[in-house]
Amino acid sequence: MRQVYLDYSATTPVKDEVLQEMIPYFTTKFGNPSSLYTVGQESKNAINLARERVAALIGAEPREIFFTSSGTEADNWAVIETAMSKRNKGKHVITTSIEHHALLHSAEHLKKEGFEVTYLGVDKEGFVDPAELERAIRPDTTLISIMYANNEIGTVEPVAEIAKIAKAHGIVFHTDAVQALGNVHIDVKALGADLMSISAHKIYGPKGIGALYIRKGLALPAHIYGGAQENNKRAGTENLTGIVGFGKAAELARENLTSHIEKITGLRNYFIERVLEKIEDVHVNGSLESRLPGNANITFKYIEGEALLLLLDMKGVAVSTGSACSSASLTPSHVLEAIGVPVEQIHGSVRFTVGDFTSKEDLDYTVDVLTGAVEKLRSISSVSKDSGW
Ligand SMILES: *Cc1c(COP(=O)(O)O)cnc(C)c1O
Repeated sequence: MRQVYLDYSATTPVKDEVLQEMIPYFTTKFGNPSSLYTVGQESKNAINLARERVAALIGAEPREIFFTSSGTEADNWAVIETAMSKRNKGKHVITTSIEHHALLHSAEHLKKEGFEVTYLGVDKEGFVDPAELERAIRPDTTLISIMYANNEIGTVEPVAEIAKIAKAHGIVFHTDAVQALGNVHIDVKALGADLMSISAHKIYGPKGIGALYIRKGLALPAHIYGGAQENNKRAGTENLTGIVGFGKAAELARENLTSHIEKITGLRNYFIERVLEKIEDVHVNGSLESRLPGNANITFKYIEGEALLLLLDMKGVAVSTGSACSSASLTPSHVLEAIGVPVEQIHGSVRFTVGDFTSKEDLDYTVDVLTGAVEKLRSISSVSKDSGW
């Protein structure tokens, strides 16, 4: 049976070039980067090279890149340490209702510490309104954290405008760019963000390695204490193989960015067109213009997304409902809720994300399987058009 992976926003396979670059650092080049002898210094040099490569992908300087264990850790660090370090100035932070849980739960933690959090809403395509942001700013606002692109519906936010507003008010601006990385041309300097979270495993690198961009001159406190690693800001012996893999994945992403965007957008559009052509009563969620290349989030009316997911899985097609992190629960996606999709339709929504190893044949196969599965579920569904859904 054909195996079709259409969940590249959840994670990606490690590319072979990335793996090959990592392997020696498990075995022969295993030295501790803090050791002064040759094998240690080789590790240190490998980390420096990786830092340059990751920096280049977002237009940063290498010394502005701080490796972390994940995008989640980068989000926690940026949000919690910024807010805590500025709490004498004010205890108000602004974010959005469609952030990843790494951000939302960091904000929840701040609330327990006595902070106030404003969650900006979004329009039906998932866009934050910069004018609304402007109105939400108060004298005690110390941080604005708004994602670059949404992981569920793929909407790319007007981050440049948002950064400008933050800057004009002297407020720190953080953006979670985990989904945007390798899928959008990012220039963190032109953008003017102070902090940016990124992760390797969404760009064909290994899991368990991410980074936080900290603009030089921004005084963000350390958040793990110990040795002098990561310029005294994030202690602990480095994840050497992970960092090397992240570096190689970043280099490949940068080299291929333009062609990647073009190819993936083409495949994604092809898929959406075929679905719209073959299946009735479907709706594409999110913006069609300002959207991540690989994302197709589609509502199939009158069915349960989970049931569809399982039928697709039986045919070898991997997709997700809601986001991977909440898919074990039946709470409806907070993102689809925020863009105003009715609850019963949220339950019929599926995210397909296309990536570098997806072929047109994979998509043709998926559309065939999907058409059959939707038909089957609708024919046995108790909720039909007639019941008013
Ligand atoms: C995947 C993801 C994260 C978490 O990154 P990890 O490295 O998996 O912890 C954070 N934010 C967004 C938008 C993501 O898609």
